[in-house]
Order: sequence, then C-alpha cells, then structure tokens
Amino acid sequence: MQKIGYIGLALLLMLVPGLALGDGDVMEELGTRAAAIALENLSISAGDEGLLALTDAGHAVIAGQTTQRAIKGITTVSGCSIGDGNLFQVLRAHWNPLWFFFFDKGTGEAVFIQVNKEAAEATLDELKAMSDDEAFTIVNKVNANLDYMLSHTDEGNATFNDKLLGGNEFSLVGIANTWAHPNCTFDFIQAACFHDHLCPGVTSGYMITKYVEDVLPITGPAESYKVIACPNWCKDDAIQMIWDATPGKSGMFVMALSPTEDAGLQEKYGTRVAGVYVRWNATANMGDGLVLGFTFDKVYELTGTANWTGPSWGSKLVMDVSLIDYWNQPELFASTIKEFPVDPETLSQLQNAGMHPLKVAGIM
Ligand SMILES: [Zn+2]
Repeated sequence: MQKIGYIGLALLLMLVPGLALGDGDVMEELGTRAAAIALENLSISAGDEGLLALTDAGHAVIAGQTTQRAIKGITTVSGCSIGDGNLFQVLRAHWNPLWFFFFDKGTGEAVFIQVNKEAAEATLDELKAMSDDEAFTIVNKVNANLDYMLSHTDEGNATFNDKLLGGNEFSLVGIANTWAHPNCTFDFIQAACFHDHLCPGVTSGYMITKYVEDVLPITGPAESYKVIACPNWCKDDAIQMIWDATPGKSGMFVMALSPTEDAGLQEKYGTRVAGVYVRWNATANMGDGLVLGFTFDKVYELTGTANWTGPSWGSKLVMDVSLIDYWNQPELFASTIKEFPVDPETLSQLQNAGMHPLKVAGIM
C-alpha cells in the first residue's frame, strides 16, 4: 500500500469503495496510548534501553487500514526503535488483531495490549473520547521473565493457560527472553520475528548459516547460496531471511520427507539430515554442494532439557535462551554428511519437483 503513487491510490479508492487509506492519526494514537499505559504499568522511563517493544503493527490490517503508523506512536512515547534494537515487528497474517507487547528486561515484567477493532475504525476524536477499556480489549501485566515463570509455575501456567498475552505467549516470552540475553544478536531476533516465534528450529537455521559460511564462504558478487530445504523445518525461515534465499527468487526449494524417510536417514547417519546447501557461482555456472546434518540430541544435552520434568510450555523456551550461548559454535550441532560438486544439470535436478533431492545428492 505504501508504494502506490498518490494518483494511482486516488483512482483505486474511487474504484474500490470501502478500501480506505489507513487513518494514520488513529493508528498513531493507538500506539501512543499503548506505550503510555505500558510505561506507567512498568514504572519505566521512556528511552530506557532495557525496554523492548514487540508488535504486529505494519502486518495487521484492520478494516482495510494498514497499521504501521502505530509504530510511530510507540517510538515517540517509549523511545523504543529499530535503530536501538529494542523494537521489532513480529510477523502475523494481516487478519490478526493489532497488539503491542512491552517487556522490561530489568524486572521481567511485561504488558500486553490488544486493540479493539472498533477503536481502530473510529475517528481520532471518537478514539480520544474512548476509555482505555473501550480502546483495548486486553491490557494485561505479567512477569514474563523465563526464570521467574519457571520458579513460579502457577503464574507461568496462568499466563499460558489463560492466554494472558492474547494467544501469543510462546512467541512473545521466547523472543523477549532471548533478546534479553547478552549474547543475542539483532539479526537473530529479526529472523525469529519473521518466523513469528522463536523455537530451537529457528536457532538451528541460524547456526546452519554460520556453519555453511565457514565451510563454503561467499567470496564474490557472482556467488550466492541456494538451499534445498529437504526436510523443511523452522530453520528455513531464518535461513531465507539471513541469506535472502527466498523461494520466489529460486534461492530456496522446500520439500518434505516422509516420517519413515526422516527416521531412516537419522538411523543411517546418526544425525538429522538438514538439507542440501549449494554455493552457486553464476559466472562460472558451477557450484559446491553440502548435505548437512543437525543433531538435536546435542541441543537437549547442552541445554539440560533431555529429560524435561518442568511445565510443558517451558522446555523449548529454555532451549531458546540457553542455545544463544552456542550460536557461534555451530559445529557442536551441525555436520557435513557429504560434499559434492554441482553442475547446472545437478542443480536443476536438485530443484525439480519430479526428483528426490536427497537421491540426487547421493545420500539415499
Ligand atoms: Zn518454529
């Protein structure tokens, strides 16, 4: 919507009744009010770098209105910004409600606020006349610090079971606690936000990019990575984000394995097959291929989650946070099953829907 020229947009609005240009003032006011409520409830000052803001503003669309201007309100009031690395847009399908989540790293306290659709559709004057209860359907304060939640399981259970974060509990608790880890990086959280949540699968994708960049580094502008994501899992969203290896540009081809194939390969290689990675040189029309494995047993071992007895919502979150200490040691988990040269014919076979890429790669 942002890129349509003014005249084109005017024409579009004439042709399509009901499709309205986002009322930016209303969206900005919603972000402004949400941030003010959060600062007050968290007793934190604007500009505190321990404050994190997460939102689906910019992705959510309400009654044909885009919501990005809410971010301006958040930044103005809270000081959180992309440049400071403490504001992220979490991907959601556009039909989801507009929400804001503020997390204080220092105390672990967090406020979740969800917008009432009627408030987003109101005029600015109508919105200003609404109480907070009318403008927002949810305003909840919880302690979202993972250690706290695990040691106060009644509160943790309530947060998850009563959906106190509007059904976004796993997503927001995982992203916030990992963001708060001193070894966490901006590009990692950005990739997790593209995935919608943070899970050990995303971390495995991040580690795989580091592993491949070490073994087959990009050395010039003619080179890029092509990924045969077979089998696919959450890793692939991190990989496509970090390498710009998107399916639409033929950077990634995504194919599933049957559970029998997956288990058989795990048995054969002692690690989970994690796809085929090609460093392709467009000038030489040649590439280098790797079939990689990723060992999740090592993840469970190093994060102490192999025999998890805590609450069911906890184990993946513990893995998320603990794994950040290892993101730059991918060789602990990732390994090379096979290396092979890739010519144009092999590349086309690896990508072809009628072929089995792992058979083309010669590992099954
Ligand atoms: Zn995931």
